[in-house]
Amino acid sequence: MITRRSFLGSAAAMGGLAASGVWTAAADADEPTPKPASAEPGTHTLPPLPYAYDALAPAISEDILRLHHGKHHAAYVKGLNGAEVAIADARAKKDDAAIANIERALAFHGSGHINHTIYWENMKPGGAREPAGPLADQIKADFGSVDGLKTQLLAASATVEGNGWGALVWSPMLKRLYTLAILNHQNSYMVGAVTLLITDVWEHAYYLDYQNRRGDYLTAWWGLVNWDDVAGRFASAR
Ligand code: MN
Repeated sequence: MITRRSFLGSAAAMGGLAASGVWTAAADADEPTPKPASAEPGTHTLPPLPYAYDALAPAISEDILRLHHGKHHAAYVKGLNGAEVAIADARAKKDDAAIANIERALAFHGSGHINHTIYWENMKPGGAREPAGPLADQIKADFGSVDGLKTQLLAASATVEGNGWGALVWSPMLKRLYTLAILNHQNSYMVGAVTLLITDVWEHAYYLDYQNRRGDYLTAWWGLVNWDDVAGRFASAR
């Protein structure tokens, strides 16, 4: 029979293992208790681009990257920070009505910050090879081929109505890769999935260079994909 105490102990040990990869002795009183990872509310900062602003041209121009990273992404970081501070304040004041309202901003700006961070890291000047190793095997199993994935992901991205993202995700629970057409930053996502590869199809991501030719932008973007980064995310998520 599993007692509440033993269940909590094993759950804590599993949590510690998952977080650090090596730490397993949650029930051992001699071991220090890991500190929560979160910083003070409202202290997120805009991560620098992993390459120069002109490094992705001509596929994505310097003008777009400066605006997109320096203004748009920065605004989501600011929005996330504001929502974190506001909800902590509302919690302290027991202002239930404010909490309900701030949740929307938290999901929107938090997802905006996360999506953009992955989007930058998913690209590399000149791109990087083809998928290899376990990622390539999984793509073949779930899409038939890399070309099958490309066709499906670009079609999903091309047809997002209004603002959104196209993504390749891994579901640890369903053990499968999926493509998603995400609305805004967070809607029509699959619960529990992990984003491996994502492309921004908000007009600010391409309009200066491509006007209404979203398909041309997506084809150019595909050539910038850093498959080493995608493979690393897959290895972590499996
Ligand atoms: Mn964007």
